[in-house]
Amino acid sequence: MKHRIVVLGAGYAGTYAAGNLARRLSPADVEVTVVNAEPDFVQRLRLHQLAAGQAIEAPHLADVFAGTGIRLRLARVTAVDPERRVVAVADVDGGGELGYDTLLYALGSHVADHGVPGVAEHAFHVTGRPAALRLRERLDGLDGRGDGGRVLVVGDGLTGIETATEIAESRPGLSVTLVADGELGARLSTGARGHLRRACERLGITVLEHARVEAVEATRALCADGTALECDATVWTAGFAVPPLAAASGFEVTDDGRIVVDRTMRSVSHPDVYAAGDSAWAVGDNGLPLPMSCASAGYTGMQATEAILGRLTGRRTAHVKLSYPGNHISLGRRDGILQLVDGEARAKTAFMSGRKAARIKAGILGMSLWTVSHPTFGLPRRKHRSAGAPDASDATAEKAVARPLGH
Ligand SMILES: Cc1cc2nc3c(=O)[nH]c(=O)nc-3n(C[C@H](O)[C@H](O)[C@H](O)COP(=O)(O)OP(=O)(O)OC[C@H]3O[C@@H](n4cnc5c(N)ncnc54)[C@H](O)[C@@H]3O)c2cc1C
Repeated sequence: MKHRIVVLGAGYAGTYAAGNLARRLSPADVEVTVVNAEPDFVQRLRLHQLAAGQAIEAPHLADVFAGTGIRLRLARVTAVDPERRVVAVADVDGGGELGYDTLLYALGSHVADHGVPGVAEHAFHVTGRPAALRLRERLDGLDGRGDGGRVLVVGDGLTGIETATEIAESRPGLSVTLVADGELGARLSTGARGHLRRACERLGITVLEHARVEAVEATRALCADGTALECDATVWTAGFAVPPLAAASGFEVTDDGRIVVDRTMRSVSHPDVYAAGDSAWAVGDNGLPLPMSCASAGYTGMQATEAILGRLTGRRTAHVKLSYPGNHISLGRRDGILQLVDGEARAKTAFMSGRKAARIKAGILGMSLWTVSHPTFGLPRRKHRSAGAPDASDATAEKAVARPLGH
């Protein structure tokens, strides 16, 4: 019987891993199935652009995986039973169960409401495509009114900054306020913070600092000091959280529900299970947890791939570096900030800004999409590794995976 690898989630981590596993293992020994809720690859890095009204590319997963032998199951994962090694899925036909021998869990994350009342009912967000489209519809409606609708973006992390600047640039008829609970862009260097402040001024964004939103209502947000911020749309960008599915499945997870993995992305509680991307709580080479990011999804996806390959072929598991290179922030389409960080993920003094930074960020986004859309690029077509039959000569494959997934 073939070894069944099931990959949950076709995002930045899962798509790359599935393509590589399918190409580098023999189809005579292994079958790879990918389960994903949406039929397309969703560029989450660009969802604020989608919300602002721009078109973003969304390649069909069926095309991405064409010729790889991967079975694509369009369905929502509802549960994992690691004792029986089955995944429960729901789809238009009602769903069912999928058995696995090796599971790669890469279901990403969604919006974190931090228990703030009213966020789920009244706030918009950009962490998934349906949510970004809902916000876009709301912004269209406000724009159509022509009376300068008020948009409140809560959270000045990278997503909040990108969302506020994108909306302000694309929809100059709206008035945008960015709410920061500390100093604006506190994670950036002094120079980059200055650039961000000037960009907000140029785009007409009102910046509210040291304001903590404690409740969201239909037409206002309430701050800890009692201030009420009147608005027509609240966009909640105060972080990402993972769904409770991993915890409910019995995997060892952190307090925030991320699967605890070892250096090879293998679950510490269930050896047949690997996790990558936002779902995994992985420690980087600097000893700090990797942040939820596209770069982390790339590195952890690669490492999980190598570990599964190593385990199935009996070969040494290649060591993939686990680091965080820095923050690449777009400020609309013509401006940006590239903030390098040190080994402890603190902002270095050096940063790049302006059009050059915007062009580099656009290049990174393009490269990320291309890499995910061609998950088997550079890998030998016919030279499969056979599960249980190690082949010490397969160096090309090892070399090919050393290329970093863009971001
Ligand atoms: C607006 C925005 C901008 C961002 N900008 C940056 C940036 O500039 N740089 C950066 O490093 N990071 C950025 N991020 C974060 C980055 O997008 C994530 O860290 C990255 O997508 C994580 O990759 P992943 O593979 O773990 O998850 P994802 O890419 O989210 O993939 C998860 C996949 O699983 C599917 N899925 C989820 N639940 C289920 C289910 N129950 N059943 C079936 N399928 C399911 C989803 O449809 C999706 O296809 C940004 C995020 C957002 C929202």
